Formats: sequence, C-alpha cells, structure tokens
Amino acid sequence: MVNNSPIFTGLGRTAILDVQITQACQLNCAMCINSKAVKGHVDFIALKRFLESSLSFKHMTIPGIAIGGGEPLLFKEAVFDLIEFAKSRGIYTSLNTNGLLLAPEDVQRIAPKLDMLHLPIDASMEDVQAVMRDVGHLLPHNLWIAKLFSESGFKGTIKIATVVSSVNAHSVVGIAKLLENIRVDIWRLYQFRPHGMGASVFDSYGISEQLFSTVVEDVKRVAPRGCIVAPNYTERYVDKVFVLPSGDLAIGNSAPLSMNICAFDEAMFIKQHEAHLRRLELYIRERLACYGKMP
Ligand code: SF4
Repeated sequence: MVNNSPIFTGLGRTAILDVQITQACQLNCAMCINSKAVKGHVDFIALKRFLESSLSFKHMTIPGIAIGGGEPLLFKEAVFDLIEFAKSRGIYTSLNTNGLLLAPEDVQRIAPKLDMLHLPIDASMEDVQAVMRDVGHLLPHNLWIAKLFSESGFKGTIKIATVVSSVNAHSVVGIAKLLENIRVDIWRLYQFRPHGMGASVFDSYGISEQLFSTVVEDVKRVAPRGCIVAPNYTERYVDKVFVLPSGDLAIGNSAPLSMNICAFDEAMFIKQHEAHLRRLELYIRERLACYGKMP
C-alpha cells in the first residue's frame, strides 16, 4: 500500500496537493513552525472546485490531496466532507492532524475514505511529550487512535510523525516499545526547524545534524517490523512551490492558507503556469545547485 501511494512516486511524475487548511490550532507547541498570526481557513468551496477542475486538466491531474494545518480538524465537518468528496472522485487522501479532536466515532466514519493518517508522537514519556506539544495526554490519546485505526481494518497508511529536538532526543527511541502492538507503516522523524514560533526556542530545541542522525539510526534498529523509518533533515525541507487558491504560483518557505504542490510533474506544471515559467525554472535550478544536484 505504501509503494502505490502517489507521494512515493517522487518528483517529476506526480502531484500531491498539500493544503494548509488553517494556521490556527488548539495547541500551543513552542516548536510550532506556524506563526499563528493568520486567522481563518481555506475556502472549502473554492478548493473543491479546484479539485474538480484539476480532474479535467488536459496535462495535469491532482491524484492526491494532503490536508494539514495548523489543526485542520478545528473544521472537522468541512474536512471530513472534503475527504469524502475527494475519495468519491478517486483522489488519494491524506490527513495530518495533532489527533486530539479525533474520537472513536470519527475513526469509523473516516477510516474507509482515508489513504494516509499522520499522527504526532514525540516522546515515550508524557512529561517530555508535554514539553513538546503543550499537552502530555497527546501521547496516550494518539496511541489509542492509531490502535483504533489499525483495528478498524483501515487499509491506508498509518504514519507517526516525531519532531526531534534537544528537548526530546533522549525519549524518542522508547516510542518503539509503545508502538509494539500497533500497525505503523511509516515513522517519520523531523529534525527540529527554527521557523515560525519555533524560532524563539532555537537555543533550547536546536539539534545538530549529527545528534539527529544518531537518533535516526537508533530508531531504525528498534522500529516495529515492516515500518519504514523516514528521516526529514531540515536542509532538505526548506523550500516549497505553492499554488494559492487563486491559482497563482508562490515560492517560499511557507505561505498562509495555501496549496502546496510538494511533488509535481515539473513539465506539466509549467505548462499550466506559463507566466511563471522563468521564475520557476530559475528557482528549481537554484535549489538543485544548492543541493549539489545540478543536471
Ligand atoms: S506544532 Fe502542530 S499541534 Fe503544535 S501548535 Fe503547531 S500546528 Fe498545533
């Protein structure tokens, strides 16, 4: 199931529409990459219209939509409706939530429509989890939700997301033990990034690439059988190409209430956005040069 997901087909072949529904969240994590200064949410009707029209684009279709935030489930009904809408049109659906607003009845409703669920778990100890995400009970709650999904016959991918910082590095490997009886397909480890609110806690949360790599290697040794451990280094995750709800292209580190093509068919994408061709080409070449991969 993981290998067939469009996100794993990589740059140059396919597109996932990464929609930041809102920057608002009921939590207040010190390391959050959002600024929270932007209120509101995407226009769900415009978004559905965009998805519908993308299905009939001649050269480009959006095979998948990744819904995130902030906390998208602050708008639970609209998000569930969007997931059901996308699924009914054969679009791959992914939900990135802090998990706390998910109840057992939600699992029953949404599991058959969802292809990927992302849930954060950052520590094996509640007190450390509380420092990372504002609330300690997120740890037992998300273990419970992940278990409910795996026991519901959920056919999609269960992904656990862990932000690794100096604060919780010692409490990451222990998560493996807690995941023993839960089906986890991907365990994504994110190196802490000093963006948004997180910029103000860099001194206490900042983690070297070396220590992050050590945690990644330790996790690989103990991760549940069959689980893919996927590290996300800061340097490889700094730039994005956005399609704003208006259809305009934006480039940058983050754009409020935007739709982000995170893996796209470059040629087809450019065709859809002729006006931005020069800028996009320059951008891609610059980035590839930075990464030492200039063709
Ligand atoms: S890190 Fe996630 S859960 Fe925490 S405040 Fe930001 S959006 Fe909410």
